[in-house]
Amino acid sequence: MAVDTAAFSEQTDIQRDITEMVRQFVDEQILPNAEHYDHEDSFPEPIVEQMKELGLFGVTIPEEYGGMGLDLTTYAMIVEELSRGWISISGVVNTHFIGSYLLMKFGTDEQKEYFLPKMATGEIRAAFSLSEPEVGSDVQGIKSTAKKGEDGKWELNGQKMWVTNGLGSSVVFVLMKTDTKADPPYKGMTCFITEKEPWVDENTGDYKGLIVPPKIKKMGYKGVESTELVYDGYRCPPERVLGGEEAGVGEGFVQMMDALEVGRVNVAARGVGIAQRALELALRYSQERKTFGKPIAQHQAIQFKLADMATKVEAARLVTRKAARMKDAGIRSDLEAGMAKLLASETGKECVEECFRIHGGYGYSKEYEVERLYRDAPLLLIGEGTSEIQRMVIGKKLLQRHKI
Ligand SMILES: Cc1cc2nc3c(=O)[nH]c(=O)nc-3n(C[C@H](O)[C@H](O)[C@H](O)COP(=O)(O)OP(=O)(O)OC[C@H]3O[C@@H](n4cnc5c(N)ncnc54)[C@H](O)[C@@H]3O)c2cc1C
Repeated sequence: MAVDTAAFSEQTDIQRDITEMVRQFVDEQILPNAEHYDHEDSFPEPIVEQMKELGLFGVTIPEEYGGMGLDLTTYAMIVEELSRGWISISGVVNTHFIGSYLLMKFGTDEQKEYFLPKMATGEIRAAFSLSEPEVGSDVQGIKSTAKKGEDGKWELNGQKMWVTNGLGSSVVFVLMKTDTKADPPYKGMTCFITEKEPWVDENTGDYKGLIVPPKIKKMGYKGVESTELVYDGYRCPPERVLGGEEAGVGEGFVQMMDALEVGRVNVAARGVGIAQRALELALRYSQERKTFGKPIAQHQAIQFKLADMATKVEAARLVTRKAARMKDAGIRSDLEAGMAKLLASETGKECVEECFRIHGGYGYSKEYEVERLYRDAPLLLIGEGTSEIQRMVIGKKLLQRHKI
């Protein structure tokens, strides 16, 4: 039971067609199967194969490289629909999208020509790696290093943490320290495009020195794997420094933070999607379940819950689309992306909680979809920067923009 807001959503014809197509795909392929993959914690290969056929790995990649060449706003609409089905599915494309953004914005011509066509079709998938066992929010504190060898190749060493798509990806955009004495530290960081074998624990040959430990066991966000990555003498050719050595060495932090800005819009869209699904489930269940002689939807306390949920979903959707549209228009949108990520991820969590309460005891049963949503929604409060970090970003940017 979808809430039909299409007529007022200011979508172009292309956006309407594509979101309708994705919504149908979600209703037919993702929603009926998510429970199975979630309970098994297995990678939803058949769904991912269909996403390749639909072109969903190349939404924002330019047509000249085989993608659809669509903007961030359209991408956010697609992600919202996918996340309405299951946020793990949007997780399969999320880091891939960030990787393709990094290539499109900072990559050399050779890097674009080599990676983007294969990424547009989904033949290869990308991961994005900043976090380490001791570092998440404070990215400047990373310890992994890359040192240039006499043969011109860079030797990468260090342990990365929480790499979504860490096993199934063929390429990882990874942040390393290339100057451990740099002050401030961010000036001594570089992004490397590290190739690897997909679905292989211990890489060999050209990719020797990259080990993928067993996937991390998680509360939710199942199906898509999160792993550590151990770089142990991995040799990276100089042409795989993002943007090339001349332009890219020392620029990794700035490049990755730029990518996180679009990543935040993407997580915001996921928050809207999961909140929308929680609202739909709550609307349905509250009209079916009866207490005290009438459907619980007829109790004012429940109607207020539904009203608050619908209002928050709408607000989160609007702020998310505004941040995306500003970015597409080339307007600085770090403040708005932070607001969108904060509001939409918190909205996702709140709406899922209310949906859970409306389901009473059944919300606690694995028989009901909200049980999965309840385990999935908290991730959005953490990934791409926690709510505390978003508030820090928003506060800082506000003061910069309104300096007296
Ligand atoms: C399922 C999953 C998938 C992920 N995927 C990826 C991925 O693909 N790539 C990747 O690089 N990372 C990934 N991450 C890592 C994620 O980005 C980090 O977990 C996140 O940035 C928070 O870092 P942390 O866990 O180290 O928490 P910490 O930084 O240790 O923070 C702990 C707590 O302290 C708070 N805090 C920290 N600093 C401050 C401050 N200055 N003021 C106030 N409060 C503060 C935080 O908000 C949080 O509440 C993933 C995480 C998860 C759980």
